[in-house]
Amino acid sequence: MCGQNMRIGAVEMMLENISQTQRHRRGSHHRNDDMPVAAAVQGDEVSVVCEPNRRQARSMDIRTDPFADLDPMALLDTAFRQAQLGLAEGGIPIGAALFRADGTLLGEGRNRRIQHDDPSVHGETDAFRAAGRQRDYSSTVMVTTLAPCWYCSGLIRQFGIGAVIIGENRTFSGGQDWLADLGVAVTIVDDSRCVAMMTDFIAAHPAVWNEDIGVADTPIVKSAGGRA
Ligand SMILES: [Zn+2]
Repeated sequence: MCGQNMRIGAVEMMLENISQTQRHRRGSHHRNDDMPVAAAVQGDEVSVVCEPNRRQARSMDIRTDPFADLDPMALLDTAFRQAQLGLAEGGIPIGAALFRADGTLLGEGRNRRIQHDDPSVHGETDAFRAAGRQRDYSSTVMVTTLAPCWYCSGLIRQFGIGAVIIGENRTFSGGQDWLADLGVAVTIVDDSRCVAMMTDFIAAHPAVWNEDIGVADTPIVKSAGGRA
């Protein structure tokens, strides 16, 4: 199929194939090298471009998983230190950090709902903003001490962050299954430090916790949920 020119009637089918291929890539981090990657229309002809150097690309897939060399516990330490900082500031102890797949720290942050009087500053969003602009998020990993809420899961989905490492999901469970279904590589460390920190905080500050997870004191309208 590569290198052929086709009549314009085939363009819709080709573009659909391309779309499916791109969705597949975003979801699984695997490449489908038999599929076209682009189509150009010139006059009444369609030029189809296939994946260059298919053999080399396939061998790279076998050799490397972009996140295989990461140590989840080591990365979690950075997020946990952010959670400790937040606790020391009188805030909700949830920390996060964004790393490249090679372990380079891009940004770190913590929930600062209380500190900034801003419910939109979740650990993940704080780390994301600290990282600044990145050209490609598919090779980044978001590390968070607590399972990401829908807001932060939406951020991960929106920017195509490739992997998520979660300290614990016992005290709160958000969009982790949804992210996994979308092909995001989800790792749950189940770290006892994170569990203890969150459990102690919830016991000591139940009202703040309920505010953070979007549970109203007197429910009138069903909440969409919160949490940082
Ligand atoms: Zn959140």
